[in-house]
Amino acid sequence: MKQRILIVGSGFAGMWAAVSAARLAWVNQNDTLEITVLSPQPELRVRPRFYEDNVASLVAPLQPLFDELNVNYLEGYAERIDEKEKIVWYRNSLQEITHVDYDRLILASGSHTQRANVHGINEFTFDIDQLASAQVLEKHLQSLPQQPESEARNTVVVCGGGFTGIELATELPARLRQIFGDDTKTKVIVVERGSVIGGRYSEALRDTIREASDSLGIEWMLNSEVESITQHGVTLKDGTDIASSTVIWTAGVRASSLGEQLHAERDAQGRFIVDENLQIAGQQDIFATGDMAHARTDDAGNVALMTCQHAIQLGKFAGHNAAASLLGIAPLPYRQVNYVTCLDLGGWGAVYTEGWEQEVKLVREEAKKLKIAITNELIYPPKADREVAFAAADPLAKFV
Ligand SMILES: Cc1cc2nc3c(=O)[nH]c(=O)nc-3n(C[C@H](O)[C@H](O)[C@H](O)COP(=O)(O)OP(=O)(O)OC[C@H]3O[C@@H](n4cnc5c(N)ncnc54)[C@H](O)[C@@H]3O)c2cc1C
Repeated sequence: MKQRILIVGSGFAGMWAAVSAARLAWVNQNDTLEITVLSPQPELRVRPRFYEDNVASLVAPLQPLFDELNVNYLEGYAERIDEKEKIVWYRNSLQEITHVDYDRLILASGSHTQRANVHGINEFTFDIDQLASAQVLEKHLQSLPQQPESEARNTVVVCGGGFTGIELATELPARLRQIFGDDTKTKVIVVERGSVIGGRYSEALRDTIREASDSLGIEWMLNSEVESITQHGVTLKDGTDIASSTVIWTAGVRASSLGEQLHAERDAQGRFIVDENLQIAGQQDIFATGDMAHARTDDAGNVALMTCQHAIQLGKFAGHNAAASLLGIAPLPYRQVNYVTCLDLGGWGAVYTEGWEQEVKLVREEAKKLKIAITNELIYPPKADREVAFAAADPLAKFV
């Protein structure tokens, strides 16, 4: 009888976990593994690009790749994990509850924006966290010219000045120009709790973000917290009102709630604490990966971030190690010493840094070319070709 690996999620981590597990079986000429991916759609949704327009195009089909590698695909949404019986209960495409068994389970169900406890946040804010919500925002932005001319119509407020907020805010001037034309004066405001722009980043990166923001005319409201949001705009805790028809929430991210039902240690963002093989502590048959895993990247104490860069490598190691544990092969401890950031800064260009100290290496057009190469090529699924996919899925192959 075949031994079953079940992977929940077909994002960056889940997709690479499947390819990597299939690779290890192939390398060992072993056909006893049955690898199955369970997710709502057989596609990879390219979340890092959701600040762009034409968001519907930012998906990559996975069925041809899975067919080529003999990976089974199950369309559905996991709802419950029975770790004793080794069963995942899920809702299938007909909305029926059914189940699938496993010998090894890999949790790769990602993350979502965690909206703060702010009055009006659910009714009156947009986000770019998932494809559907980014599409809602895109439709809304396109409908703005039909509203009567007003300060609120022409002002977009981005709540949160982290990477997502910065990439979105710096992209918006060009998107708004496309929508309104050159003659309408629009405003983009970032509301940020911190006292400096990009306060969590290196000084060199902060300076670059500030320069780009100034050049694009983006206003930062620092030391500012949102008190409430209505259809007319935002009120800050100090009583300031900002008139806006478009308030976009980008602050805070939390691991998928699917993990909440397992009795295991999790970090402040809801990620499972995993060992170096990406197994969840106390859960012998369950691995966590991508945005679901709190994993050490090196011996210096750095921890993987909730980024696609980490999710891709975490996926490859999780798939490899789940398969290794069934094939009687020694696992590979997860290591990802290199860390880079490449931040899009809209019409100004981009910035590329290396290392955890975020040393700025490239800016403007040069960094932008690299950013486009990363987000439009490097992070996409491999070609549906066994040799190409397996070469890329080797956890020890150079990634960045
Ligand atoms: C706007 C934005 C910009 C970003 N920019 C960058 C960037 O510039 N650089 C970078 O490195 N990272 C960036 N990120 C972060 C990056 O997108 C995530 O870290 C990455 O997507 C995590 O990959 P993942 O596979 O863990 O999860 P995801 O990509 O979220 O995939 C999760 C998968 O699980 C599925 N799923 C969820 N729940 C269930 C369930 N219950 N049952 C079955 N399937 C389920 C989903 O449908 C999906 O297939 C950005 C994210 C956003 C939202």
